[in-house]
Amino acid sequence: MKLVTFRQGGKSSVGVQIGEEVRRLDELVPGAPQDMLGVIDAGAALLDQADEALRQGRGQSYALSDVRLLAPIPLPRRNVLCVGKNYHEHAAEFANSGYDSSSGGQDIPDVPIVFSKFPETVIGPNANIEGGLDRDGTLDYEGELAVVIGRAGREIASEAALAHVFGYTIVNDVTARAAQKRHKQWFLGKSCDTFCPMGPSIITAAAVPDVTKLRLRTWVNNELRQDASVRDLIFDIPTIIATISRSISLKPGDIIATGTPAGVGIGFDPPRYLAAGDKVTIEIPEIGTLTNRVV
Ligand code: MG
Repeated sequence: MKLVTFRQGGKSSVGVQIGEEVRRLDELVPGAPQDMLGVIDAGAALLDQADEALRQGRGQSYALSDVRLLAPIPLPRRNVLCVGKNYHEHAAEFANSGYDSSSGGQDIPDVPIVFSKFPETVIGPNANIEGGLDRDGTLDYEGELAVVIGRAGREIASEAALAHVFGYTIVNDVTARAAQKRHKQWFLGKSCDTFCPMGPSIITAAAVPDVTKLRLRTWVNNELRQDASVRDLIFDIPTIIATISRSISLKPGDIIATGTPAGVGIGFDPPRYLAAGDKVTIEIPEIGTLTNRVV
């Protein structure tokens, strides 16, 4: 099932997307929560009810073109967790770029590198990235698959990890490269307002039989820059969940961006930074297409 958060007539709701149409969850299941975090908290029983209502043809269809999509989780409860340098080719391009203050000269990390972005970084499809917040003119994009946690847990074994996943979405881990390097940590360069475009949907884990088969592509102004399979992750999703949850309780609604493949702006020589007017589009076909412009 593909879930979206959308705005229509001054009101935001959760909807089920079917093709180019959307049906409101609270029309399918009366009393259903109208925000995605509430839907995640409600668990699988609510989605089963929605599925049944769809089979019975309940709910009015609205054209996607008539509503405004927001980020599926417009304001997460906690920081968006992120994994750095998690594709082999990207780890090499980052290490060679001169911007990597994390590695001590090592390309491939021994253990996952984890950082976070403030909840307020999140923006939805077609919202603008405020490029001027990179004061150095080194704005970069990072197309990423993100995991949405559905079931709380600590010390989650990797064999059990996927049972804690609610679904998957797309994140653009927008980065101010000079700040990322200069401050010897990744938070300041990655947590600027608007630096986490997310969406357009969450596809539920039940609808993704094998997450490693997903393929991610990123375009800048219609030029293909990233094209990778989730199978190429250095640390796979179960390992990431096991690592983070070893000492940190994961909670429903937590978001974990799994890392970006090769092809970011600093992978080019000279680097190809984003500028005002540029359009970044990230696609994972099962989830949809996330497009944002830099202003
Ligand atoms: Mg990233």
